[in-house]
Amino acid sequence: MMSETHTSLLASELGPVVGTNNAKALEKAFGYTTVEEFLHHFPRRYVEVGELTPIAELPYDEHVTIVARVVNTSQRQMHSRKGFIFEVTVSDELDASGQELRMTFFNGYQARSELQHDTVAMFSGKVSWYQDHLQLSQPEYAILDEAAQADPRPIPIYPASAKMPNKKIRDLMNLLMDQVRETDVPEFIPAALLRLHGYPTRFAAFNDRHRPKQVADGYRARNRFAYEEALLLVLSLAERSAAMGRQLAVARPSIPGGLADQFDERLPFELTEEQLLVGQEISSDLSTPHPMHRLLQGEVGSGKTVVALRAILQVIDSGGQAALLAPTEVLATQHFESIRSMLGPLAEPGLFGEGNGTGVALLTGSAKTAQRKEALLGIASGQTGLIIGTHALLGDQVQFADLGLVVIDEQHRFGVEQRDALRAKANNTVPHTLVMTATPIPRTVAMTVFGDLEISTIRRMPFGRAPITTHLVPMQLPGYQQRLFQRMAEEVSKGHQVYVVCPRITDSQTEPGSLGVTAEGSGNDPMSVEAMFELVNSIPLFNDIRVEALHSQLPTEDKHAIMEEFSSGEVDILISTTVIEVGVDVHNATLMVIIDAENFGISQLHQLRGRVGRGGLPGTCLLTTWLDADHPSVNRLRTVEGSTDGFELAEADLAERKEGNILGVQQSGSRSSLRVLSVMKDQKIIERARKDVGQLTSAAGWRESYPLLAVTLGTWVDEATREFLDKN
Ligand code: ADP
Ligand code: MG
Repeated sequence: MMSETHTSLLASELGPVVGTNNAKALEKAFGYTTVEEFLHHFPRRYVEVGELTPIAELPYDEHVTIVARVVNTSQRQMHSRKGFIFEVTVSDELDASGQELRMTFFNGYQARSELQHDTVAMFSGKVSWYQDHLQLSQPEYAILDEAAQADPRPIPIYPASAKMPNKKIRDLMNLLMDQVRETDVPEFIPAALLRLHGYPTRFAAFNDRHRPKQVADGYRARNRFAYEEALLLVLSLAERSAAMGRQLAVARPSIPGGLADQFDERLPFELTEEQLLVGQEISSDLSTPHPMHRLLQGEVGSGKTVVALRAILQVIDSGGQAALLAPTEVLATQHFESIRSMLGPLAEPGLFGEGNGTGVALLTGSAKTAQRKEALLGIASGQTGLIIGTHALLGDQVQFADLGLVVIDEQHRFGVEQRDALRAKANNTVPHTLVMTATPIPRTVAMTVFGDLEISTIRRMPFGRAPITTHLVPMQLPGYQQRLFQRMAEEVSKGHQVYVVCPRITDSQTEPGSLGVTAEGSGNDPMSVEAMFELVNSIPLFNDIRVEALHSQLPTEDKHAIMEEFSSGEVDILISTTVIEVGVDVHNATLMVIIDAENFGISQLHQLRGRVGRGGLPGTCLLTTWLDADHPSVNRLRTVEGSTDGFELAEADLAERKEGNILGVQQSGSRSSLRVLSVMKDQKIIERARKDVGQLTSAAGWRESYPLLAVTLGTWVDEATREFLDKN
């Protein structure tokens, strides 16, 4: 009886455990409703009195912790149109020298509500130099009442908010931990592994994490939870790989003198060494009776599509069909057109057409009924060797004669379910799969996230690709706005074309006539495509320049027409949202202006600027922002400005997403399967888990030996892997 009530504690609602009002507040702040969710609200770090540094001795550029009393607070608006800075001046509690230190909190709602005159708190952060004094910017802090000042134990610092500050979280967590018993938290990791790595049991780990006796205990508990996630992740991928290895596919070996060979002869350029090498890997994968599961990564324009096309032709040569799945209609249409022109006569089916090639068809959601019927017929009869389309290809009416290869372009838009749905369309056997991504994935991440895929990488661009130069444009400085427009007009006068990308489609608030809002302005919204379009059209400089606006809400036909006009050079400036992010290929475009660039992620910005410099002409990318130079987001833009290495940027992007630790910003509400593990920083733990999983699964019947691990894995895979894979 006891154990029944106890094992259900983690699944139970928070109300009975912490009180109804507190439970409501936790739900509002973080979205938690169960004990288990709140228990996983882990501290970001700990501070302890032992680490204290007196103000007078603060080392520049290092991480410090001080206990200090607030002597003054104030608030100022950012010079940009976003947010405010809350400033706190403190004086040392331990040192009578009267030294003061300033701290700044960007959009510090929580700090503003908690830090008042005379409040004593422990602050911790990195010392920086600003104007003429040392400061801590965005420090983390824990309010110290008298009892806390006397307690020698480390203080956990939680992700917190103004309404749910650190002190309150600590109190509620204590209340909860007092009620959790060992039987509530069953252990599912084999005891031998815990011993091997010196990790605490799951129950002990919750205790150590939330109220460690020493800081080291807290971090060891943290690593236990990271390891737990790594173990489940690696184990799930190993199982998936093993299952795939048992699957059968039809071998599609290359046929000498077939379409693939004829295509190689037609190519107007030499394939690069990497393209040839990857081509061989794929070709030999396709020749075996087991399905290929390969990820092909390479920057935009690195020549992936050509490689994929050679694989497609090999499959068609040996009697199969191929499907190419693109994330948007614009992209599918572009692929269709460029592939048909690359194939030339090889895209003429032999039976009814002129040539000795194969049928190539396009199927998208907006296809007309007659078109659609024809496409479906060609696919079902096998006359169409290659079908290109969007998710419309996944529909029930689409029946293949013999689907042999699925190529998925720009994988980050699709989830595993979609991959599986398309693969399920092969009769009886599993088709070969090639996933192409232009977002480079760091090796460790690839190993973990795509552990079930083989990976091929194209690192070098084909010869003749011009470099892209990127500049940050600080709009609040005098003259920059005008200079930006002049630069755009100059580019057009040289006969080139310009992309302008805005973060949003419409904007009811922005007044036309001004690019964003001036320093005194109160607006907060990023620039919209529509407002930008109006603005550009209202400026005499652009009188003879043809400008169009493109975004996802336009009717499909308009979208195609505008894209067509831009491709053919009838339109000089294209103002759009990120619809042009992937795959769009206009060689004459040399300038990319990204407005209010702080609204985009690092990888996204890199992807966007890959749209220019594609035709041998050097490309320029301008990132505009109204943010002050000291705004945290400007760092991100500088990272993009300073590097064109897609792999380096992908790592920066990922590191940032995991470390988004501005106090008050909570990301912990999501149920993401990887709550603790950082695929970037926990490489050692991941390696450890890989080794352990290797041993575990090499012995027969681990599921029987460790039934609780098997059950936990099952639940975890159902809920979590999918969610994680989808998001990344
Ligand atoms: P990705 O799919 O990786 O974005 P594509 O395959 O579309 O890249 O190639 C981008 C452009 O470079 C296309 O115009 C393509 O014809 C061209 N290209 C591909 N491989 C080579 C090569 N080896 N030499 C010269 N140009 C190439
Ligand atoms: Mg491409």
